[in-house]
Amino acid sequence: MEKKKIIEVSNLVKKYGEFTAVKGLSFEVYEGEIFGLLGPNGAGKSTTLEIIETLREKTSGTVNVDGFDLDQSPGEIKKVIGVQLQSSGYYPNLKLTELIEMFGGLYNQPVDPIQLLGMFNLSDKAHAKYKELSGGQKQRFSIATTLINKPRIIFLDEPTTGLDPQARRSLWDLILEVRAQGTTVVITTHYMDEAEFLCDRCAIVDSGEIIALNSPDGLIDQLVSTGFERKKEVKKANLEDVFIHLTGKELRES
Ligand code: ADP
Repeated sequence: MEKKKIIEVSNLVKKYGEFTAVKGLSFEVYEGEIFGLLGPNGAGKSTTLEIIETLREKTSGTVNVDGFDLDQSPGEIKKVIGVQLQSSGYYPNLKLTELIEMFGGLYNQPVDPIQLLGMFNLSDKAHAKYKELSGGQKQRFSIATTLINKPRIIFLDEPTTGLDPQARRSLWDLILEVRAQGTTVVITTHYMDEAEFLCDRCAIVDSGEIIALNSPDGLIDQLVSTGFERKKEVKKANLEDVFIHLTGKELRES
């Protein structure tokens, strides 16, 4: 069966004054996949994401999300996507349950805060305030809030930056769970282990251009087929494995 395209970006260009940050990007995201935009800082990942999210004006090109054209129907696109807020968007003195109820009200969607917090391992923080959460808890909460309007696609911009290894792995599992429930996930990251673990396909973006697009295995096979070999023999474990082995997989932050 042909996979359905849920996002189609074609010849997307974004100029900031004289500077062209996005130089004619084209890619498609299939329904139900985890699609990654990878690249160094300044590559144009966030700009691209924010244009698709209707939060930033494009200079030219076309974007279609779930059958809606960005120029014609930005309001329809907003209804089918879930976007992470900057942390400043969370009123510091409201409890997590109150924040979720408030967002549910804004989206005009019935929502069960306790059930949503439970899915994100935050049940015991239900009555805590956002400012009282650890870094990992804040990230989990911010991903939970992307689901309040029952979106078909969520966008995660560097969701694990600044987290410790346990919190990162716990977030990866949650992202897989969100996808398993049928939501398409578009993620930006500059952590290649994260992309390799999570992404079905990824685009490598550099200086506003896509320089490769494939599954992680496909990209690795392409490189190996050019005769590339790692200089040193690969170790059977890395330092992160040592850290996780010694300190355990459980989250410590509650
Ligand atoms: P990434 O998310 O890959 O780090 P960004 O999309 O944030 O990249 O930025 C791409 C380029 O566009 C960078 O060189 C950045 O400095 C520039 N840029 C981003 N936002 C603006 C803006 N509002 N005004 C001018 N330049 C910007």
